[in-house]
Order: sequence, then C-alpha cells, then structure tokens
Amino acid sequence: MDFQTRIAQHNATLVAVSKTYPPERLLEEYQRGQRVFGENKVQELVSKHEVLPNDIQWHMIGHLQRNKVKYIAPFVAMIHAVDSFALLQEIDRQAFKCNRVVDCLLQFHIAQEETKFGYSWDEAAEMLDEQPWRTLPNARICGVMGMASFTDDRAQVRREFQELGRIFEQLKQTFFAQDDHFQHRSMGMSGDWDIALEEGSTLVRIGSLIFGRRN
Ligand SMILES: *Cc1c(COP(=O)(O)O)cnc(C)c1O
Repeated sequence: MDFQTRIAQHNATLVAVSKTYPPERLLEEYQRGQRVFGENKVQELVSKHEVLPNDIQWHMIGHLQRNKVKYIAPFVAMIHAVDSFALLQEIDRQAFKCNRVVDCLLQFHIAQEETKFGYSWDEAAEMLDEQPWRTLPNARICGVMGMASFTDDRAQVRREFQELGRIFEQLKQTFFAQDDHFQHRSMGMSGDWDIALEEGSTLVRIGSLIFGRRN
C-alpha cells in the first residue's frame, strides 16, 4: 500500500517536504490535491509562498533563527522546530503583529547523533515549568517533533519514535491536560514513515519519496 493511503488511514497529515525543488514541481503536487508543504529555509519558504496559490498551508520544518521569524509570521501555518523559549516569544511577538496565531511544535532530540537540535525531556520540562509560555497566545504549542537516527536499524528508529510518543503523553498530562490543541507528533520521513505511523505520528514529513532524490 502506498504512503498516501496509509497516512490517510491513520488520520495523519502528509507534509510534502519540497525543499530544493522549484515551484513548478510543487504546483504539480498542488494540482493533484496536496495542500500542506514543508520547507526548511526561510528564504526559500518566503519566495515559494509568493508565487504559489494562497490556500497552501506552509510548514517551517527546519531550524529557525529568531531574527528571521518576522519574514514568515504573516503566513506560516506551523513551525515544527521550536527549541527555546526565546524563539517562542519571538514567534508570539511577530504573530501578534500580524493578528495571527501560529501553531508551534517543540523539537526533541531523540536520535543518537550529536548534531541535531532539540530539547531533552528535562530541558523542556524546565522551560515549561519556569517560563511564562502560557502568556503567549499567538504562539500556540500544539505538540512535539523529532527526527530519528539515520540508521538501517529499524528497531532503533522505532524505539526513538516510541520515546517521542512517551514524551508527548507526559507533556500532555503534565502541562496540557485541558488543551485540545496539544495533539501533534511530527515524526517520520521518506525512510521511516511506516514506523512513525505505527507509533502514532500525526504529521509525516516526506520529501524524496514524493519529489525524487535531492542533489
Ligand atoms: C528534508 C527533511 C525531511 C524529509 O526528508 P526525506 O528523507 O526527503 O523525506 C523531513 N524533515 C526534515 C526536518 C527535513 O529537513
């Protein structure tokens, strides 16, 4: 069964990761019905947004610098990789200026590689305990995001997704019990989307499987 069908069966959302591909390729997918696209660079996101239909929901899936939030705040639907309170504050500030609410996910470091961004459980719990994030109504925390290790060891990948699932449940209980917006687990890419769905992903970020290999 193809990934689109499986994603639909799980009531998850396909985020078509279109980074490096030209707008014409996105438009082809748009014409086939795709409405949610993910980019990882601010400049590319802005320029594609300018030339493509405005009912596209744009997701920023990459690391985001605070000083660039202002460029995407007017239109971005979701920011997947929030990893500091300062970034959340800036998203709130810029979204407020545009009279918008921007959905945000807290990024967690679940992989073995050292280089990836994201919170540990302790760091996130400390932030949520100590910082006044509830006073930022225009930056709405809607769940968690993570990337598994780059490995052929599928059992390892599954354990990492399970860990993100536990983090989600624990955060939900501890900080978001009365909050229906806190519902998302952004996990799974071209190589591990099937495992991610089995482990409860609600947002699957797939690039090369849709668009072909990037250079
Ligand atoms: C590029 C990217 C993806 C998609 O990767 P593919 O392997 O091409 O599916 C998913 N998530 C993030 C954060 C990315 O940067």
